[in-house]
Amino acid sequence: MLQRFYPDEDVNSTYEIPFEEFYKKGIRGVIFDVDNTLVPHGAPADNRAKKLFSMLHQMGMETCLLSNNKEPRVSAFAQDAGSLKYIFKGKKPGIRGYQQAMKLMGTNASNTIFIGDQLFTDVFGAKRAGIHSILVKRIHPSEEIQIRLKRKLESVVLYFYHRRKKIRRMKQR
Ligand SMILES: [Mg+2]
Repeated sequence: MLQRFYPDEDVNSTYEIPFEEFYKKGIRGVIFDVDNTLVPHGAPADNRAKKLFSMLHQMGMETCLLSNNKEPRVSAFAQDAGSLKYIFKGKKPGIRGYQQAMKLMGTNASNTIFIGDQLFTDVFGAKRAGIHSILVKRIHPSEEIQIRLKRKLESVVLYFYHRRKKIRRMKQR
């Protein structure tokens, strides 16, 4: 029952996927979710994303973005990232977006892979479309990481602060 949501593979990040190996195995097209798969939600294309697409295209790989987000977001990202094939309002997990993406790339379900961060939209849709799916961990915005780090540091400081308070109180008795 739950297996329909299982990805074929899962990795920490889009940026550690061995695309070269997939190419050698005959894969010719990669469909990407955008938000939290390539960049944090709503963020513009960064250097890492731009490099990834230029590397893939040099390799001879076709790419297509498939997002449930709106046109302005997806088209702006596509321009910035240099991945000019894209589908907005893709209605994942519906399979039409995946089929359209393959049509744009001139590939089929056997030589295409899909990469996304959500099980119930991204992965479920790819599986229904018969495409090899790779689940990546959601990219957090950097502020969040900084805040979490600060909290951790805070908790270390607070631990020693409270310990000293306790010791002082004991000495006063
Ligand atoms: Mg996403």
